[in-house]
Amino acid sequence: MFDPVKLLRPHLQSLVPYSSARDEYKGSEGVFLDANENPIGSITERKWNRYPDPYQAELKAKVGEVKEVPVANIFLGNGSDEPIDLLFRAFCEPGKDEVITNPPTYGMYKVSADINNVLVKEVLLTASYDLDVDAIKAAITKTTKLIFVCSPNNPTGNDVGLEKVEELLRAFEGIVVVDEAYIDFTSRASFAQKLVQYPNLVVLQTFSKAWGLASLRLGMAYASEAIVGILNKIKPPYNISGLTQETVLNGLENVAAKDQMVAELLENRDELKEGLESLVVVKKIHPSNANFFLVEMEKGHDLYNRLIEQKVIVRDRSKVVLCDNGLRITVGSKYENFRLIQAIKELTKK
Ligand SMILES: *Cc1c(COP(=O)(O)O)cnc(C)c1O
Repeated sequence: MFDPVKLLRPHLQSLVPYSSARDEYKGSEGVFLDANENPIGSITERKWNRYPDPYQAELKAKVGEVKEVPVANIFLGNGSDEPIDLLFRAFCEPGKDEVITNPPTYGMYKVSADINNVLVKEVLLTASYDLDVDAIKAAITKTTKLIFVCSPNNPTGNDVGLEKVEELLRAFEGIVVVDEAYIDFTSRASFAQKLVQYPNLVVLQTFSKAWGLASLRLGMAYASEAIVGILNKIKPPYNISGLTQETVLNGLENVAAKDQMVAELLENRDELKEGLESLVVVKKIHPSNANFFLVEMEKGHDLYNRLIEQKVIVRDRSKVVLCDNGLRITVGSKYENFRLIQAIKELTKK
């Protein structure tokens, strides 16, 4: 039986976590002289003088309802970058343990690994940007703790083979992290529905993309109760601000607004694709299940620089492995997409 406590770094098995004032007394009524807060008020119009709920009970209940995930399986982070870092801190002994990533992929896995001094084994995606399961299996050692799978993948835009992810979940004795930052733009179901089946699964999602809340910094990790318990034990006590908790809680009354934005962005995605197809410098537009395209261009790096001169900023992936001459272009508003296409036409006309 999979038990994440067996994967935990030894010194954390006996960790006594920080006990916040609000851990010890749960009631909301009373005279609160336990947290050295300012009882008078705040310098702002709204009062923010009391510490927020460290476990975000109300917000989690709402997230659970909207996402159809049991509350006990939800961890909330300061962006999904926070659970990524916490997974390293929980399970990877610096200088000893390893993780596997599948480039070209999201840069934070490697950065977080480097910050934590954890070795990354990079197993490239195949030419069609799918998981190379045999190569991943061959790269697994006794000290491999985490495998990061990003789907839809950043920067390529495609979903990887879902049966391949499941093959890894069955074959690997460590934790498989499935990053679903772009889940709202694809038609497949979330892996969150498979938590019961796979106790070694962690699913990451975020409010930063489809929900339009990047600035608030709220991400989710869905996992077994045991893994959520470990993340809770090592997280900073008040990792989600009161402002974020309240704002997202209110926003989640309006899921229809997200659906409407996603529908509009999918329409814009089709339009952007048509626009790009009309350009001679475009060599290949990779199929996208996300809100961006990886586009192979003629002289991608030069074009990137010249677009900046036109104040059109895209993401230069031209030097990234398997992305030669690639630019990652976010699906913008109709106007932004028009500006991009016009700028490229202008720059490349004879
Ligand atoms: C944007 C993105 C995230 C989101 O990070 P946040 O910290 O939640 O804003 C996570 N994973 C991938 C692959 C992304 O592209």
